[in-house]
Amino acid sequence: MNLNQTRLDEVIQAAFDAATSSGGRDAKRWGVAIAKAKQQLESNPFLHFDGDALLILSDSNEIYRANGSCQCRAFVNHQPCWHRAASRIVANYHRQQLPATTGN
Ligand SMILES: [Zn+2]
Repeated sequence: MNLNQTRLDEVIQAAFDAATSSGGRDAKRWGVAIAKAKQQLESNPFLHFDGDALLILSDSNEIYRANGSCQCRAFVNHQPCWHRAASRIVANYHRQQLPATTGN
């Protein structure tokens, strides 16, 4: 994906801060997931955002379609996964590029 690195870093930092601010166990796991998402967004060429979900060819050669849900083992086990973290980051990235007419 063709993403502006500076903007991406801002979105990732905001997501990280939001996810980890509660300090609980899930917060820590989301922090790890977001760090992995950052790494993948910067290095994995097999990511595609279709406007709704992020399509991901994972390390294990599975294709996941992640938005609020995912098909990976972590999601099945109710754990944070980097696929969903990456999906949220990319969705936020694109949302914030829209003209700021809604006050968001
Ligand atoms: Zn997943």
